[in-house]
Amino acid sequence: MRIAFAVATMTLAVLSPVSASVACTGDAECAANERCHGTAGCATGSCVPAFSLATFPIGQSGITPYNAALVAVLDHKSRFYQQCCDTEIVAYTGESVVRGAEVGLCPSEPLFPQCFVTPNCICEYKHPDSIPFTINGNYVGALFGPEYLSYDGHAGYDYGYGAGTSLVATASGNLCKAIEDPINGHVGALTAWDKFHTFYIDHGAIDGAGYASWYLHAQDLAGTGSGGEVLAELLPGECAPVGEGQVVATLGNFGTFLPHLHFEVRTYDLLEGTEGFSQKGFDPYGWTGTGTDPLATPGENPQAESRIAATWIACGNGRLECGEQCDDGNTLDGDCCSSSCQLESDGSICDDGDDCSGGETCLAGTCGGGSDVCLLDPFKCYKVKDLKDPKFERSAVTLSDQFGVNDGTFELVKPRYLCNPATVDGSAILQPAGHLTCYKLKGPKLDVADRPEIEVTDGFGTVRLQAKKPSVLCVPSTKTVLP
Ligand SMILES: [Zn+2]
Repeated sequence: MRIAFAVATMTLAVLSPVSASVACTGDAECAANERCHGTAGCATGSCVPAFSLATFPIGQSGITPYNAALVAVLDHKSRFYQQCCDTEIVAYTGESVVRGAEVGLCPSEPLFPQCFVTPNCICEYKHPDSIPFTINGNYVGALFGPEYLSYDGHAGYDYGYGAGTSLVATASGNLCKAIEDPINGHVGALTAWDKFHTFYIDHGAIDGAGYASWYLHAQDLAGTGSGGEVLAELLPGECAPVGEGQVVATLGNFGTFLPHLHFEVRTYDLLEGTEGFSQKGFDPYGWTGTGTDPLATPGENPQAESRIAATWIACGNGRLECGEQCDDGNTLDGDCCSSSCQLESDGSICDDGDDCSGGETCLAGTCGGGSDVCLLDPFKCYKVKDLKDPKFERSAVTLSDQFGVNDGTFELVKPRYLCNPATVDGSAILQPAGHLTCYKLKGPKLDVADRPEIEVTDGFGTVRLQAKKPSVLCVPSTKTVLP
């Protein structure tokens, strides 16, 4: 027997399709720390953080900051720029792990200030429950798998893409081969380019601070600057202007175990310049964890600044931007906002995420209109005897139902059935905690003339039935098997 219960309260689950940002036609309509993005290419723009990264550095279609293969996170905890191991790694989502017995690549507890001298504290810590970290939904962990959070003392993001992958400019600016990268400890005889093939794109000044995107471990630069400069022929310290989205390099393996892009976003002091010691890193993903961003504690992390809002302009960031009809915070199809942030057509099938609705369709970007019937598990019902410990006391209840022909006051005489959720031919149990206790009813008769005739459909077929008399009242219950 398969039982379908109509849920008394009609619920229509609706997903909010658009996280709307303020529409604008100029910067003056945005907050002080925002700019109007998209006025050139769009009818109207939207207000975004004053510094925004328009393009993801990995040049593959469909890759966004929110689905890229991520192998190591920017550590929000402690002084990551000095490569000094603390004892905790915190990702922008707030997912974190404290150094426990199982660490990778970090054989001994670092001792201050030894960690400054021996910059080998690139640690991976295992999740205490040995379950994977999720981060951006595509986190894999650098070496030991998704249940290891990588790395402690890490000043950027590592993206796991292979040698030869195109790297593109995140925003327009002046591309330079780096001489020094004090943040990552590259100061001395070798330039940062020589040692790690480090380059950066200086995006210039915004509200009194400089902004730059840093890339490590390129194979070589590629393409030409806006003035015709051959980028691969630049010497360390030389620069050339590049445009947003332009391929500027290929991914390599300089100074690392495996090919990957190490990517950082930094502010710098305009007087000191792009390679100065007072650079500060920030997380372009923003901070989505609960509580205060650890980067917001200057005493603990003087070389970073906290960004609550993400600075990526991208489909899937939950913010409506130029060229997007919607942005529901993901890049999934089938939820009325497509993987490319366009509205899915009215009437297309969607899932509103509610197990108690089915057959929903899109209407103007909203998923809804589904059936509001909640299918419960099949129940296997046992006739029961009261053990009288304590004895069930009869009680009166007022009942009405959708037939409307037998409403009134009934007496619950005694417990009659206990119904267990059951599997039928191997089906899955949806709600293992959901049971029914059914009580024998005594009350108003149902006149023969009033007996409703109904058609019901379940997993065994469709039948037509006549309701004869109320027999039991089944109420949701919990169950504990006695010893
Ligand atoms: Zn790295």
